[in-house]
Amino acid sequence: MGDNGTVNHGSDLDRKVLAAVERLGRALRAARQEVATRHEVSLLGLSVIETLANGRPRRVGDLAAELDVSQPTVSDAVTALDKRGLIQRDRDPTDLRSTPVALTDTGTRLAADTATELGPLLAADSGTEVDRATTLRVLLGEIARLQAAGVITVNRSCLTCRHYQPPGPRSRARCLLLASPLPDRDLRVDCPEHEPIPA
Ligand code: SF4
Repeated sequence: MGDNGTVNHGSDLDRKVLAAVERLGRALRAARQEVATRHEVSLLGLSVIETLANGRPRRVGDLAAELDVSQPTVSDAVTALDKRGLIQRDRDPTDLRSTPVALTDTGTRLAADTATELGPLLAADSGTEVDRATTLRVLLGEIARLQAAGVITVNRSCLTCRHYQPPGPRSRARCLLLASPLPDRDLRVDCPEHEPIPA
């Protein structure tokens, strides 16, 4: 039943889920903006730093695809971070955009600082662990749907990975590559071993 005693149709529920996700997104964006301003980087610059924090260098084109922004936009952000000494790249004067970008030691320290500052905000404790694990699976399903619709470019989560074996009537979900059970709580959002399901 809905809030006013009427029966909820799927579309009402979908709108409420979307509104809740948007509200969360705005709150997180505001908090991240505050952290970015404190460290004198742009919000996109902070996203670049967070993306590079796992130690895997990326080309500007890869960063643009992952962050769903244009190459010139991310290129400007990378240049600003470069001037601050937060990122490094082996310059290829013939094609700057194909040059892998990585964090410097200073950039790595800033990534750790911002992760610490954002940590309390990201420490969800509402609902049970099972609730939160289910939420994770549902959100990853929505991300997969938006990727299929062309809204999201890069998605390296388990639900779109060829190695993911969904749970069956008598079997639990598994990662076939890692040869280990993969319950909802362990689903990865950005896995370095992810391989897309062949079309
Ligand atoms: S390889 Fe990574 S993304 Fe793929 S199923 Fe295993 S843990 Fe998930």
